[in-house]
Amino acid sequence: MSLTNIAPTSELQALDAAHHMHPFTANGALAKKGARIIVRADGVRLTDSDGQELIDGMAGLWCVNIGYGRTELAEAAARQMRELPYYNTFFQTSHVPALKLAAKLAELAPGDLNHVFFACSGSEANDTNLRMVRQYWALKGQPQRHIVISRKNGYHGSTMGGGSLGGMSGMHAQGGLPIPGIVHIDQPHWYLEGGDMTPEAFGLARAQQLEAKILELGPDNVAAFIAEPVQGAGGVIIPPESYWPEIQRIVDKYGILLIADEVITGFGRTGYWFASEGYGIRPHIITIAKGLSSGYQPIGGSIVCDEVAHTIAQDEFNHGYTYSGHPVAAAVALENLRILEEEGIITRVRHETAPYLAQAWGSLADHPLVGEAVSRGMMASLALTPDKASRARFAADPGTVGYICREYSFGNNLVMRHVYDRMIIAPPLVITRADIDELIARARKTLDQTYAHLQREGMLKAAA
Ligand SMILES: *Cc1c(COP(=O)(O)O)cnc(C)c1O
Repeated sequence: MSLTNIAPTSELQALDAAHHMHPFTANGALAKKGARIIVRADGVRLTDSDGQELIDGMAGLWCVNIGYGRTELAEAAARQMRELPYYNTFFQTSHVPALKLAAKLAELAPGDLNHVFFACSGSEANDTNLRMVRQYWALKGQPQRHIVISRKNGYHGSTMGGGSLGGMSGMHAQGGLPIPGIVHIDQPHWYLEGGDMTPEAFGLARAQQLEAKILELGPDNVAAFIAEPVQGAGGVIIPPESYWPEIQRIVDKYGILLIADEVITGFGRTGYWFASEGYGIRPHIITIAKGLSSGYQPIGGSIVCDEVAHTIAQDEFNHGYTYSGHPVAAAVALENLRILEEEGIITRVRHETAPYLAQAWGSLADHPLVGEAVSRGMMASLALTPDKASRARFAADPGTVGYICREYSFGNNLVMRHVYDRMIIAPPLVITRADIDELIARARKTLDQTYAHLQREGMLKAAA
């Protein structure tokens, strides 16, 4: 039948190594080792080509919110493909899935975020945002307002625009990023950068960097500030409670646009449809992707407030993608939103499974290797450290220990990711208490193995 049924793993790995270039991967090293090949999935579990079953602690790449194996989405896709597999929305035409999805998103989004520009991914949506906020100010007669402020260690995608808005030093080191007109302030990462300050004081100080940067650049030159409500790819960095109210105050004071990149935090990840609600922030634009379709189809977009959308509507916006609002992707997203809503999945996260995860994950903080273990909704992280009291870093290069820990985790059939020496999870929102118990047991075993490994190798040393 399919290749996965007829070929042994080694053959699949050889083909992969010979021809497939993996994203964010040292492909030479992977080719020697061989990729783990995932062939099936159901609920929160993956099956690989050797028949091993893994708990997917990352919901794919933060996206499979409703879990795997929901045939309703397959049926929605097939139905739409038979009826209208493709049409564009450029030529003064529209189609039912795109317009219905836009209307549904307007209903779900907070405030007057009533308009949607579709893309195929989060990166593309942020490219749209970059052009849209600059065009907005141009139409307002302030074309000099073009600078977008972003944050170090933020993640906004991998295109030229997205990678520039992001603040990943490893990305900026390759391919000529960032493009002009984007500046970065520091992240609200208390654990690593807070020193002796309280989290509250540190959160305020980091938010006030936005005000200082606006004043330095000249308030009339700043178009927008973009940030993730909770940094995802940066390591599930949950800002101190003081951070977002202060950001909102500053954004209001200088009248700049606020873009909340909710590609991860949207669609229930933090226990709300959008994390902006939980944090009480009022963005002008929300970036969406990932959980919008639970990853079953590639689709993203920008949900835009009345003021910006009405202004942009005054002229032709010379921007768009062949697959903007793709009918199959939109039909699948609509079905995904129906399931999230009708099955009460987000409410259950907020009131039941997220508090359970917080307690269970938090219990890992008693491990000798763990400096902190925190969560918000269904995203969680822990810091590995050689010395809990001082929140010390390891003497080894950042990421060395995290990688060792990740390898043990994969060996224990738990997909847990590392960002430098922080371990992170973001499981499907449908994860049950029993699954969480199993996930935590495997994570604890992983930490024990990592600790023993570091002891054995003499790696429990703090950086000077
Ligand atoms: C994943 C991600 C993106 C990029 O989305 P792609 O679909 O991979 O292009 C943008 N912003 C955030 C916050 C993300 O997590």
